[in-house]
Amino acid sequence: MSVPSIPFLDLVTPHVELEQELTAVFQQALRTAGFIGGPMVENFEKEFAAFCQTERAVAVSSGTDALRFALIAAGVKPGDVAVTVPNTFIATTEAISQAGALPEFVDIDERTYNMDPQKLRQYLEMQCSVSGDGKLVSKRSHRPVTAIVPVHLYGQMADMDPILELAEQYRLIVIEDACQAHGAEYLSRKHNRWFKAGSMGRAAAFSFYPGKNLGACGEGGAVTTNDARIADAVKMLRDHGQAKKYYHDVEGYNGRLDAIQTGILSVKLKHLPEWNAKRRERAEEYKRLFAASEGGVQAPFEPSWSRAVYHLYVVRTADREGMMTYLKNVGIGTGIHYPIPLHLQRAYVSLGYKKGSFPVTERVSESIVSLPMFPQLAREQQTRVAESVAEFLSVQAAPATESVSIG
Ligand SMILES: *Cc1c(COP(=O)(O)O)cnc(C)c1O
Repeated sequence: MSVPSIPFLDLVTPHVELEQELTAVFQQALRTAGFIGGPMVENFEKEFAAFCQTERAVAVSSGTDALRFALIAAGVKPGDVAVTVPNTFIATTEAISQAGALPEFVDIDERTYNMDPQKLRQYLEMQCSVSGDGKLVSKRSHRPVTAIVPVHLYGQMADMDPILELAEQYRLIVIEDACQAHGAEYLSRKHNRWFKAGSMGRAAAFSFYPGKNLGACGEGGAVTTNDARIADAVKMLRDHGQAKKYYHDVEGYNGRLDAIQTGILSVKLKHLPEWNAKRRERAEEYKRLFAASEGGVQAPFEPSWSRAVYHLYVVRTADREGMMTYLKNVGIGTGIHYPIPLHLQRAYVSLGYKKGSFPVTERVSESIVSLPMFPQLAREQQTRVAESVAEFLSVQAAPATESVSIG
């Protein structure tokens, strides 16, 4: 008798649990034929803005579009440089390029895996110069640097206080990539209060790709902001640059989100606080279980200023490939987020970075592994993951008697 396998992610259970409410959304849309725009979209936008503690939210067709529209609406121009990290999903830099800008990188913090504010400072101070007309110019590309895109990776916010302070000092636009961080929180020491992901920059991008903490039954995304002009500009960009039908102020895109998806997201948003709380509980439990592994597995670091929502549960271990193979053989799913840092991807050869350009990201990418993490992950399943990891570590640590020569 074989033991049941443990998936990396279970997307079926939450949808089966909510099937009646979700199909009711579809029925409602059928009966009104309100597929594009309308009250379901507007209601979801209000609810999501309230959830993120922002004035506005604008629903768009994906997280990538959300980031592209946010950058354009906030004033990033073709030819500008936007600074981000190489430890992220490629959509971050795709959106920068699609806005006409050039991505440049700064390295991450080895404990949080997010943008290192010190490295950002060094970049701004040493790798940029101020031109005659007072513009900050990148020495590598000779282009004006106008934006910073911190990524709240794995569900934990980047250290925003120092990033925002540098942005203010250098007059840079901050657009948060919050695509993995719906509901994550950050304690600002400057303001002495907690902020939700998506509420700290000039604007932020969220993704509702099915596997995200809040996922549609298809593609989806949103821009959040406290700036009404940015929200209105994003509304125009998602709808062919029109504020009024067939009156086009600018060229835009077809980047709207279907009414059915927003209705589905409204149903799921009610459960998000409880799902995020469960992810946090699972993370606590993993931490407890791995505390015994004596450094064999390095659990995620959550600083006192962070309340992470664990979109992914990423650990580090010396023999990552060995651990993944071992877990696969006992029926446990894992992943790597991400195996190749962006600056070493073939798509970015033209940027001119090389191995060694961002040593922390490179080191991290070679030892990270993402373990099963989703709200419905059962305690027994989790215990089995931890036991299997411990088994792997003990097998690995045992002396390889057969190959040892004792003369
Ligand atoms: C998912 C994701 C995106 C893009 O979202 P899509 O909805 O897939 O376009 C952008 N950035 C990060 C960090 C992501 O994880």
